[in-house]
Parts: sequence; structure tokens; C-alpha cells
Amino acid sequence: MTYVAAPGRYESIPYRRTGRSGLKLPAISLGLWHNFGHDKPLQTQRDITRRAFDLGITHFDLANNYGPPYGSAEENFGRLLATDFKPYRDELVISTKAGYDMWPGPYGEWGSRKYLLSSLDQSLGRMGLDYVDIFYSHRFDPETPLEETVGALDAAVRAGKALYVGISSYSSERTAEAARLLRELGTPLLIHQPSYSMLNRWIEEDGLLDTLEEAGAGCIAFSPLAQGLLTDKYLKGVPADSRAAQGKSLDPGTLDENRLNRVRALNDIAARRGQSLAQLALAWALRDSRVTSVLIGASSVKQLEDNVGALGNLDFSSEELTEIDGHATD
Ligand code: NDP
Repeated sequence: MTYVAAPGRYESIPYRRTGRSGLKLPAISLGLWHNFGHDKPLQTQRDITRRAFDLGITHFDLANNYGPPYGSAEENFGRLLATDFKPYRDELVISTKAGYDMWPGPYGEWGSRKYLLSSLDQSLGRMGLDYVDIFYSHRFDPETPLEETVGALDAAVRAGKALYVGISSYSSERTAEAARLLRELGTPLLIHQPSYSMLNRWIEEDGLLDTLEEAGAGCIAFSPLAQGLLTDKYLKGVPADSRAAQGKSLDPGTLDENRLNRVRALNDIAARRGQSLAQLALAWALRDSRVTSVLIGASSVKQLEDNVGALGNLDFSSEELTEIDGHATD
């Protein structure tokens, strides 16, 4: 059946300004790293993306190599754009990235202009798009001058193939440098995409949010649920359909008793707040307004809906935050 987006889709989700840019993002965005490759039914992908947009999630995040196989998440998203979301293109913020392993040889990964710009052309081809909203350098390349990497991002914007640029997983120091270079080129850094969760706080130790604030850039936190660990998914063992069971990016070895006891204690705090653990984890990651959005994954509509429910309670008392720190950090 032809998809018609829910009329009330902009009524419930908050949209936060990305740094000092003109662009607002939904407080929760959807990433297509897992669950959108050719290994998953297109209908499930359609159900999840439709429901996301109906709930007000305007931002979908991809990368060249999301799948499996590489490129297939962009291909599938291209199909969904063609069949479902085409009339809504101007209501969507679509991002992609290049930086990790994509094709063989010296031009298929890292941060050269050669790789970034050809990869972006390939991504646009797979998605059937003229432009993406945000194009990212997916990781810092220690062997390519930063001037060349950010110069390629700037070139993508000047060629009309991206509206904004971002960087992912760059240290605070590298971020400051990239932001300075981009400013000189006249293409300001829009956003940084780091990992961040109750269990992974490197951005706090690195001062990244301060650097981004100074640069006027936003922050979109990936894996805020620690790939599912900060949900009720693993509380009673490893379910067969989970990321950990399928030997994907979540190593089941990290689910030791100590870790699980911490997660159970966090689950108790969530219950006291009338939230699921996933909701607590997302609300926590959003507690600093400099975090523009949390970038979640979902393998079902049910998970997506549970996660969006986080927005019902984003406030924390200082006692709650201290208690969370006591369980989540060493
Ligand atoms: P999350 O931490 O949100 O983990 C998502 C997984 O957690 C789901 O696939 C699901 O696991 C489980 N889950 C989600 N919601 C629930 C729920 N309510 N109840 C129970 N289980 C739940 O994020 P991801 O690790 O998926 O990353 C999100 C996005 O961030 C990616 O899609 C990508 O866009 C981006 N990203 C960027 C990176 C970068 O280098 N820039 C690196 C990694 C991610 P299951 O599938 O097992 O059901």
C-alpha cells in the first residue's frame, strides 16, 4: 500500500539545534548499521523506517559499508526512498560516511580525497540521491594530511553533493584542528559523531563536548545503548536473535557477570523512574543539551517505540546521576 506519513509526526519529538548551525535534528535519530543489509527482510526495514518517520524521526544515518554486504544498507534505503519516502525528501536528513574498509586496494579506505569523493559518488548512486544532507569522514587517517581529508568534505559541498559535513570518532584535539581548517575553507563543521553511553564516556574524558561547543558544532552520539547491552535484552542470557549471539560487532565476552550485575542495577534505577533500561540510557545520553541527538539502532518496531518513549522523562536528579555513575563506571 502507498505510504502516507502520519499527519501528527512533528508533534511529539523534540528537535535540537545542531551546534550553532541552522539545522535541527530529532533528539533520537535512526542508524542503519545493522538490520538493513541484504540479510534482513526488506519489509522489516520498511516497517521500522516508516514507523520512525511517523514518530518524527527525520534523520537516517548510513555509511558506505553498512550491510552486509557492504553497500547494501544504502541500496535498501534507496529502495525505500523510491517506494515510500520520495515525496518526503525535503523533510529528511540523510547522512553517509566514508573512512573504513570499502573496496580493495589503496583507494578503498581511510581519508584521501581520492577515496572520499569516489565513495560519495557510489553512495549517491546506491541511494538514488543527488545529494546527502551530511557527509562524514568516518575516521581520522593518521597518514593523510587533515587538510586533504577536510578539503574533500568541502569539495563535496561545493559540488552540491552534500549540504553539510561531519567527522566521526576524531579526538578532541583533531576535532579542533578539523574545525579550524573547515572554517578557513568556508564550510563549517556541522557535527561530530562519537560513541557515547553510560558505559563509554571517552568524550567526557577527552573534553570533546567543550571543543564542539567552541567550534559551534553539534554532537550525535552513536551506540547509546552500547549495542543492546543497555537494554533488557541480555538480562536473562543471550537471545538467539541478538547481535551478540550472531557474532557481530558485540562480543559476547563483554557480557560477563560483573558487567551484567552493573546493568541489572541500572535496570533497577530505570524501573524506579518508570522507564525501561533503554529509555534510561537514552535519556542519560541526552542530559547535556550539547548532545544534539542520540543515534540508535533497532531490529524491530517494538524496540524503536520503546526507545522513543525515553523522551517522556529526560530529567535527572543529582542523586540519580551519582547512583548511575556508581554502577556504570569503575
Ligand atoms: P545502539 O546502541 O542503539 O544498539 C542498537 C541495538 O540494540 C539494536 O540493534 C538491538 O539489538 C538493541 N536494541 C535497541 N533498542 C532496544 C530495545 N528497546 N530493547 C532491546 N534491545 C534494543 O546503537 P548501534 O550500535 O546500532 O548504533 C546506532 C547507529 O550509530 C548505527 O546504526 C550507525 O548509524 C551509527 N554508528 C556509527 C559508528 C561510527 O563509527 N560513526 C559506529 C557504530 C554505529 P539487536 O539487533 O540484537 O536486536
